[in-house]
Amino acid sequence: MKPDLFQAPDYYNLDDLLSDEHKMVRDATREFVKREVSPIIEEAAQKAEFPKQLINGLAEIGAFGPYIPEEYGGAGLDQISYGLIMQEIERGDSGIRSTASVQSSLVMYPIFKYGTEEQKKKFLPKLASGEMIGCFGLTEPDHGSNPGGMTTNFKDKGDHYLLNGAKMWISNSPFADIAIVWAKNEEGRIHGLIVERGMEGFSTPETHNKWSLRASATGELIFDNVKVPKENLMPNKTGLGAPLGCLDSARYGIAWGAIGAAMDCYDTALRYAKEREQFGVPIAAKQLQQKKLAEMITEITKAQLMAWRLGTLRNEGKATSAQISMAKRNNVEMAIKIAREARQVLGGMGITGEYSIMRHMMNLESVITYEGTHDIHLLITGLDITGHAAF
Ligand SMILES: Cc1cc2nc3c(=O)[nH]c(=O)nc-3n(C[C@H](O)[C@H](O)[C@H](O)COP(=O)(O)OP(=O)(O)OC[C@H]3O[C@@H](n4cnc5c(N)ncnc54)[C@H](O)[C@@H]3O)c2cc1C
Repeated sequence: MKPDLFQAPDYYNLDDLLSDEHKMVRDATREFVKREVSPIIEEAAQKAEFPKQLINGLAEIGAFGPYIPEEYGGAGLDQISYGLIMQEIERGDSGIRSTASVQSSLVMYPIFKYGTEEQKKKFLPKLASGEMIGCFGLTEPDHGSNPGGMTTNFKDKGDHYLLNGAKMWISNSPFADIAIVWAKNEEGRIHGLIVERGMEGFSTPETHNKWSLRASATGELIFDNVKVPKENLMPNKTGLGAPLGCLDSARYGIAWGAIGAAMDCYDTALRYAKEREQFGVPIAAKQLQQKKLAEMITEITKAQLMAWRLGTLRNEGKATSAQISMAKRNNVEMAIKIAREARQVLGGMGITGEYSIMRHMMNLESVITYEGTHDIHLLITGLDITGHAAF
């Protein structure tokens, strides 16, 4: 793979809207990605392996639980810093960002928000330091966009719960130490349970043959009469709103992360267009290539402003789920379109692993599908503005 010469585009001086802490956090993550991720990511993706050697470094830069309070091992940062961390990690690879997102928003967040004090003390510091990795089990083989239809269930057996069912498409599952599992009780109410590796009847087979998010491990969660201790139930929120609350946080992170992937594609294409000569001039001198590049920087700039504004709303506790859906949907589509255009700017070279673009493009096919598909987020906006649910 080519050396990482990334230069972040900032066409509207967005840096002026950031605090010194934001810039420090962002720059530390950017350096980490250049130093640790870029040199190894292409090979990891080619081999379809999650590079576990990155876990300690991710923990050190605060990527696990950026906004979880320091007393539980988190970095205690605000939502803009969290977003910037996701942006920079996804600039390296969406799969690595997925691991950080799942750990922060889908594992640490529910334990922090819905868990007991004992659960927080037991799990959060180890998750923040990377000593433990978690995963989030909501999707099932027959229930993706409609998770409320889930059939995974648990029964109260007096001194423990008995868990049965299966989850599919679970990021980090093949090597996770714990799983946040959403399951229905005997009354059909959804609860979150912390299932630990090693519990009898719990297995996590890996899903192979993915062309997308190849540097992220994806798998199933299978529960065959798993005895879950009663103290592993998170008591403080139940119903579908509990997992959806986690998804708000993760989708917000994706809205920033997708900008990172788009920035990397744009920066690569811009540099290539200035260097590559055809018909005696750099291709950057041709109007058709300028149209692609000019539209890319326009769309990136709009997405940056949207993410920043959403971050300020989240800092004030005012961002709605529908606003988050809009940003996730817009920014991921923006990134995938830019990846496709940028790939063309590189001609044949664009399909090789010498450059990051094709990997980003393939990764974004998952990002546009997970955490609510492109269609579902549109229907969320539709519901919000019309009052009619069209799901
Ligand atoms: C790599 C990867 C990692 C993932 N990681 C996780 C994870 O860690 N944890 C987890 O729980 N899940 C995870 N997922 C699952 C992901 O969230 C689901 O794939 C997603 O929610 C869509 O569900 P589905 O694949 O079953 O598609 P379906 O729900 O079957 O949808 C198929 C198509 O139908 C459309 N559709 C569905 N309903 C409607 C409707 N009402 N109106 C119009 N169109 C509709 C969808 O938009 C889509 O285009 C992951 C998925 C991938 C690919």
